[in-house]
Amino acid sequence: MLEINHLKKYFGELEVLKDISMSVEEGEVVSIIGPSGSGKSTLLRCATMLETMNGGDLLYGGTAAVKNGTYANKEQLAKIKEFYGLVFQNFNLFPHYSVMKNLIDAPVHVQKRSKGEVMEEAKQLLEDVGLADKADAYPCQLSGGQQQRVAIARALAMHPQMLFFDEPTSALDPELTTEVLKILRQLAEKKMTMVIVTHEIDFARAVSDRVIFMADGYIVEEGAPADVIDNPRNPRTQAFLRKVQ
Ligand code: ATP
Ligand code: MG
Repeated sequence: MLEINHLKKYFGELEVLKDISMSVEEGEVVSIIGPSGSGKSTLLRCATMLETMNGGDLLYGGTAAVKNGTYANKEQLAKIKEFYGLVFQNFNLFPHYSVMKNLIDAPVHVQKRSKGEVMEEAKQLLEDVGLADKADAYPCQLSGGQQQRVAIARALAMHPQMLFFDEPTSALDPELTTEVLKILRQLAEKKMTMVIVTHEIDFARAVSDRVIFMADGYIVEEGAPADVIDNPRNPRTQAFLRKVQ
């Protein structure tokens, strides 16, 4: 589904991603863990083309968005961007739109789908995330956890083939974290392909098919949670997990 080869990313002199290669298969849930500043968000931002990569390849469903650091043309990139959705730490809902309008705006105006059909589907998505009664509310009237669940429903309304999450619960209190993680768990059960940057180690263990540990712009260790989280081989993974658990 997703393939990244030899990705390099610099910010000025600072080399933030140093030769990252990874792939994600259909239906797989991959968690990315690692210390602050190790490059996790930058990796997600490069993979989703919010940042320009300085070298390497990026492929979705076998189609190259970037080959040897060179980007495909605008039309091709626009098409590839439909492949995935993105949910961030800070919800990023449109504050002046109702919940329903947040969900239907892009499917109707960007994807040009019929409004009636999109609204029906949006109602179902709100029900799936436990917010059927909030369609007419505005984001400021919702708790952080509810806003994040709307953000997930909004991403799903675009029919992505995979979803990226960057610390989707880090802005939330523990009790609100639980309700958001429950939704992610349900998506994993439905075999939604997901890449999740998280500091919730127990959640990563429970939900992931594979865990990637990053440090200093490298993938240091990757594998099943039972290996990377419970029996890490690399001393840096061991030290990190000792600190966070
Ligand atoms: P955290 O766990 O704190 O979110 P992270 O692993 O997501 O950390 P990144 O945000 O990817 O880390 O940052 C990696 C490095 O790149 C850091 O040294 C950071 O200061 C630097 N960096 C990130 N974005 C930029 C930017 N736009 N300009 C310059 N440097 C940046
Ligand atoms: Mg980050």
